[in-house]
Amino acid sequence: MANPVVAIVGRPNVGKSTIFNRIAGQRISIVEDIPGVTRDRIYAKSEWMGQKFNMIDTGGIDIGDEPFVTQITEQAQIAIEEADVIVFLVSAKEGVTDADEKVARILYQTDKPVILAVNKVDNPELRAEIYDFYSLGFGDPVPVSGTHGIGTGDLLDLICKAFPKREAVTEDQTVKFSFIGRPNVGKSSLVNAILGENRVIVSNIEGTTRDAIDTKFVTEDDTEFTMIDTAGIRKKGKVYESTEKYSVLRALQAIDRSDVVCVVLNAEEGIREQDKHVAGYAHEAGRGIIIVVNKWDTLKKDNHTMKDFENLIRQEFQYLSYAPIIFVSAKTKQRLANLPALIKRVNANHERRIASAVLNDVVMDAIAHNPTPTDNGKRLRVYYATQVAVKPPTFVIFVNDPELMHFSYERFLENQIRAAFDFEGTPIHLIERRRK
Ligand code: GDP
Ligand code: GDP
Repeated sequence: MANPVVAIVGRPNVGKSTIFNRIAGQRISIVEDIPGVTRDRIYAKSEWMGQKFNMIDTGGIDIGDEPFVTQITEQAQIAIEEADVIVFLVSAKEGVTDADEKVARILYQTDKPVILAVNKVDNPELRAEIYDFYSLGFGDPVPVSGTHGIGTGDLLDLICKAFPKREAVTEDQTVKFSFIGRPNVGKSSLVNAILGENRVIVSNIEGTTRDAIDTKFVTEDDTEFTMIDTAGIRKKGKVYESTEKYSVLRALQAIDRSDVVCVVLNAEEGIREQDKHVAGYAHEAGRGIIIVVNKWDTLKKDNHTMKDFENLIRQEFQYLSYAPIIFVSAKTKQRLANLPALIKRVNANHERRIASAVLNDVVMDAIAHNPTPTDNGKRLRVYYATQVAVKPPTFVIFVNDPELMHFSYERFLENQIRAAFDFEGTPIHLIERRRK
């Protein structure tokens, strides 16, 4: 089941991104060397008191050159469509403004819970300012200060209380995957081609609106798949649909709900900067990844074309060295029949569990062949390794001092683990812990 979604809306400068970063803040793993991943973050996972949720900063969704009013209208509309709970942010410093009232009028149109939060209440004296905001019609305003970190705990309590109750659903055993990529690479063509070749399961169980866009199908070997629709596809025509940030948002939501993400590239146009952003998000989310080079029919090929393209991908996406590459055409269906089997294999690797005894054999063997590094005469000692999670496979390595684990040695251990077990298509995480 997807985690609930919170969207923050409000006119510019009330402090949306400050609050967003404060709530998402510490939980975001920053991967410095992936272009675009850390910049302009508008979507983040978070957790409060054991409740996981995702958060959208609608202020980061740039609606192009549209007039100011259109921009906030569109952003509020996105919040209404995407979120389970909406945080309507205003500022105690300026009081109620016309723009706040505009946002309020749009939010009146939704039945979803709206929490009115008054930001910039930096000290107790400013608390008196919040009463003006009752006029917006959203009940008790919640005072917060994004920069001082005041009141965010109470706000989070209210957010979590407002999440829709979910009935216990039996965990779906199908292989969940999605196609992501920039516009025009051929995502919807691939969706249609795959569905055209396989038996689609029509379900009469009502899902939530967000889940209803998924399609289930079965391949000849009886494997059940769920294709998660990136849905950039479904809502064509709206102003915000054409904006890059919004399609990124849809992609992020699809990535979040997938076990395996097919990053689609367009052979005709080669690799663009935006492809790297999209792939970076999937990598950072720890999903299984397959690089699908579509429109393979458009190239005039010789014996080197595929190898050259592969080399280019390896060079441009160095952090995805684990991801298999498949060259297909949605148009001619070339190699498309192989894709479901590849997705299934990557999915199996993504949830692979290695018994501790076997794992330790591999790790200790690796250490015997390549002694651990030293620093200032102190040598790294590795005591024990164990797998603590799947999706992606995550290993804890107990050591004398985590500081002594150099990046290059960690990379070496990862390579040894990959050489011993099939983790093709999935990132694996290594975590060093000091043995107590
Ligand atoms: P957004 O446009 O709504 O995303 O607003 P930002 O998060 O970019 O914040 C706008 C300005 O308000 C920045 O200069 C922030 O430093 C400031 N700001 C944000 N939160 C607070 C707060 O709690 N108190 C004060 N005094 N300033 C804040
Ligand atoms: P999306 O924006 O990523 O969903 O891309 P579409 O599926 O809408 O495809 C964009 C354009 O590329 C359309 O005109 C498709 O007909 C075309 N297209 C998609 N796949 C292929 C392919 O494999 N070969 C060729 N030649 N054209 C393709």
